[in-house]
Amino acid sequence: MDNQLGSYETQLVIQQEVYDMLLYAYPLLDHFPKSQKFSLVQDIKRSMDLVLKYAITANKKYTKTTTLEKMDVELAALKVYIRLAFELHFFKGENHYMEMSRRLDKVGKMLGGWIKAEKEKSGNTAIEKTYVCEKCGTKITPKSYEYSMRNFGKSLCYACQKSHRD
Ligand SMILES: [Zn+2]
Repeated sequence: MDNQLGSYETQLVIQQEVYDMLLYAYPLLDHFPKSQKFSLVQDIKRSMDLVLKYAITANKKYTKTTTLEKMDVELAALKVYIRLAFELHFFKGENHYMEMSRRLDKVGKMLGGWIKAEKEKSGNTAIEKTYVCEKCGTKITPKSYEYSMRNFGKSLCYACQKSHRD
C-alpha cells in the first residue's frame, strides 16, 4: 500500500509540475512576435493544454498507459515547438529557453517513470494475457503489442503493421 501512496503522490506532483510549466510559459509567449500569435504560439498553447489534460485524465483513469503514452507523444511535440521557437529567436533570452527545457525534461523524466511503473503493474497479468492482431487475428507478443499500440494506436501483427504503413 505504501507503494500505491507513493505513485499517487507522483501523479499529483507531475500534474502540478505541468501546471507550473504553463504558468511559466504563458507570459513568455506574450513576447513572441505578433505575427506568431496565431501559429506557433497557438501550437504551443494547444500542446501544453493537451499535456495538462492528459495528466489530469491519467490521474482519474484506472488504466493509464494509453493516456500516458499520448501524453508522452504530446510532450515530445511540445519540445520540438519550443526548440523551434528558440531557433527562430522568439524567446527574449536564452535563459527562458533553458528554463523551459529544464521543466520539459523534468516532466519527461517523471512521465517516463510513471509509464514504466504502469507497465510493470500490468506486467503481472501479461503472462496469462494473449494479444492478437485486430486485423488478421494472429497471436502477437506483448512486446509487439506494446510497439504497435504506441506507433499505430491499434493492436497489429508485424505484417499488418507493414501494410498499415504503406
Ligand atoms: Zn495481422
